Parts: sequence; C-alpha cells; structure tokens
Amino acid sequence: MLPIDDAALTAYLVPRFLNYVRIWTTSDRHPQATPSTPGQWDLAKLLAEELRGLGLADVTLTDHCYVIARLPATPGRGGTEGPIAPTIGLLAHLDTSSDAPGKDVHPQLVKNYNGKRIELADGLALDPAAEPDLAAQQGGDIIHTDGTTLLGADDKAGIAEIMGAVEYLLAHPEIEHGPVEIIFTPDEETGAGLPELPLDTLKAVACYTLDGGPMGELEIECFNAYGVEVQFTGKVIHPGTARGILVNAALMASSFAAMLPRPESPEATDGYYGYYCLMSIEGNHETASAELILRDFDHDGVLRRVAALERFAAAVEAQFPGGKVTVNAKRQYLNMREKIEERPEVLEKLKTAAANVGVAFKLKPIRGGTDGSRLTELGIPTPNIFTGGHNFHSRIEWLSVSEMTAACKLVIELVRLWRA
Ligand SMILES: [Zn+2]
Repeated sequence: MLPIDDAALTAYLVPRFLNYVRIWTTSDRHPQATPSTPGQWDLAKLLAEELRGLGLADVTLTDHCYVIARLPATPGRGGTEGPIAPTIGLLAHLDTSSDAPGKDVHPQLVKNYNGKRIELADGLALDPAAEPDLAAQQGGDIIHTDGTTLLGADDKAGIAEIMGAVEYLLAHPEIEHGPVEIIFTPDEETGAGLPELPLDTLKAVACYTLDGGPMGELEIECFNAYGVEVQFTGKVIHPGTARGILVNAALMASSFAAMLPRPESPEATDGYYGYYCLMSIEGNHETASAELILRDFDHDGVLRRVAALERFAAAVEAQFPGGKVTVNAKRQYLNMREKIEERPEVLEKLKTAAANVGVAFKLKPIRGGTDGSRLTELGIPTPNIFTGGHNFHSRIEWLSVSEMTAACKLVIELVRLWRA
C-alpha cells in the first residue's frame, strides 16, 4: 500500500471543496447552448487558473467551457526514455442539478460529528436514525447544507478529489505515474454537455469519472436511457357549443399519464428494475405536451417501454376521436457495462487500487448515467468512482470528509498502477 498521509490529503481537499460549492453552477435542463448557464464559466476559469498555478503547462479552456489539462508522466514513464505509460483520464462535472436550488450555498463543516440529528432550514433535518451512513460518521468530519440549497458534492467533491490528487502527485514526484488527462465538463446533469467535448484532442485510453456516492461504490453499469416528448393536439371550440366537437388536449395528456404503470415508476423501483418517469405535463384545450424519461439496464427493456408509450398514444387517440398524439423518443445514453468489460484491465486496476488503499469496494449499478456512460459509448471505457457524497440533488445533501479523502487516495493509487 502507498504511504499516503491522510491528513495532508484532507488539507488539500476541504478548502477546495468549500470554495467550489460556493460558485453557482446550476445547469438548465432545457439547454439552449453549452454551457447552459454562465456560472459554469466561473468555476471552469477558476479551475484552469488553479491547474496552471499548480504548475501544469498544458491547460485548455475550450469555447464550450470544457477544462482539459495534462499532468505529464514522471521521468521515464512518458516516452522519452523507458516504458511508455498509457494516458489515463480523470473526469468530473462542473454543473449542479436543477432539481434543488444551487445558488448561495452555505456549506457547514462539522468537525468531530457527535452523531446527533442536525436541524436544517425549513424543517428539514439530517437524521442519523434514518440514515445509517450518517450515523457511521460519528467522530469524523462531515460537510452539509444549511437546508436552503443542495450542497453540490455532486460533483464538486469529484472535482476537489481530482485537484487534490494532482496537487499531491506534483508534491510527491517519488510516486511514479504515466500521463494523466484532467477533464472537467459542463452540463452533465442536463445530459447535453458531452457533444461539445473535443473528443479528437483526448489522449486517454481509459477514463474514470469521480461522480459516485458513498464510500466504496464503484460503477461500471448504468441505465439505457431514452427521453420522450409526447405532443397532444385537440380541437377547440367555445365550451358553450362544444358538445360533440371539443377534443380537449389537456384531458388527453392526463389520460395518457394515467396509463403509465405505477409499479414501474422511479418511486416504486430500485436495484435492477427500470422505470417510466413523467417529468412534466402541461397544456390547454388545443395542445398539450408531456415529457418522460425511460430507464432500463436491459436495452430491450427500454425499447419495450418506448413501444408501450406508442400503444398508450394510440389508445388515447381511440378515446378522443379527432385528437392526435405523437411520441418522439430520443436515446440519451446506453449501459456502459459491455464496453467496459471488453477492456478488463480498466476495472481490474480500479479494484486493485481500491484494495491497495484499504477501500472495501462494491460494484453497484448506477440508477442514472454519467458523462462516463456517454464517453464509454464513444470508445473510452469510463467507470465511475464514489466521491463520499450522500443524498445528491437534494437540500439534505452531505459529504463525508473521510470518504472524500479515501476517494482521492484511491485516485492517486489508480494513477500509479497505470504506470507502464
Ligand atoms: Zn454527478
């Protein structure tokens, strides 16, 4: 095992994290451009500056707010002499979810947590009785919200861990490693960020996202994801003379929504079960629309759901003669498992690194996706590593400082293991 000083690492991580979460980077779920919100530039510029400040010469901030930087190999590992080590990528995202407020985050650092219930704003609380992971933090340090916003550990914990690892490796040239590519992306939460990534400039043969949750969770498997827009068109007439003529699009939409199988909703499923999720519904007599996401670990499973929505649309048309329903499904990302398994060393090195730094790992399916899912599809296998964050996308989000330190240590060991 690497003799890494936990306290030194924590000292790199905590101030960085507290600084990053104060920058407002909430993304817009209906992006018009990349990045979808201007605040993401503030964090990207800061990170580019910090990376240059650490001494990296190769730091790029692209026109679309991607930070791409390279940490050169230690002598003898980069190709001038000795074995040539492959380039490994480390990836995290700049934006935070729009599911909860993300402006004016006031992170609360609790040292030596006493294990008791923590009251937050608006009647919210962190309750160790309901959260065994939180209870287990007694005696350690945690960082939580004040209850008015999310924390942004998703994914600023990942960013801090990558930055901390880079800083530590630069301060410890005795830890030999190959070239490392650092990639910070905008708009991960919108699912729209990756298309602007200048893929042809990347050198990484494998990547790791730091975008997972609690200690030890490693992820090589995610949903197959489709987004669906359903349009309902009715027939309008004054309600006073509507008998036999009006076709009410708002009612068509509500009828469609009522057909969605509740046992296959996100709130009724976990583990390997997929779902239909109604995201929004709006409309009037003339037109209405509904937005859904479909998820399944099995590709046939998600296609079955697309086909079911088309059948529901036909059923609504039959119920509302003269009305029209169109279903437009778009693929968002695919399960990355198969592509990662084609390159077994990518997972093997990750498992070995975890074991070497004393992290008991568990492989867990992601009930979502990451930029890593999309990057894997594009040919760079990209598993996901835990960050130590809990309750993502909520006002009760919190971060374990010891888990953040463990994730950073794991990254350092992983980078070391990829040396040729
Ligand atoms: Zn994330």
